[in-house]
Amino acid sequence: MPYKILVVEDNDNNRTLLSDILIIHGYEVAVASDGQKGVDLARELLPDLILMDIQMPGLDGMSARSILKGDPATSRLKIIAVTAFAMQGDKEKILAAGFDGYLSKPISTRELPALIERWLKGES
Ligand SMILES: [Mg+2]
Repeated sequence: MPYKILVVEDNDNNRTLLSDILIIHGYEVAVASDGQKGVDLARELLPDLILMDIQMPGLDGMSARSILKGDPATSRLKIIAVTAFAMQGDKEKILAAGFDGYLSKPISTRELPALIERWLKGES
């Protein structure tokens, strides 16, 4: 059975890009366009991996992560932060906040598949 990946991203272009790359590589993909929908879908699908945009209107990625990690039903889901923050130290800050990995935008379509494999194996 293919791994199930949930993409939570408010930007249409980024969401489509991520989804397309993952589908091409054989993953089963679900998408959500905001944090609340992302939390709802995560609860319903229990995906193997969640790619979570940090900056979203309404429920942002940090808050969505906290909700999922605080619920025993979803606390073990792997959540990767997707963020355009380019400043040095942001990766460390985000990993310290409890994310299982970090993906910076713009997204490298070349590097993403290998990263996904690593995250699925539990490496950050
Ligand atoms: Mg965003």
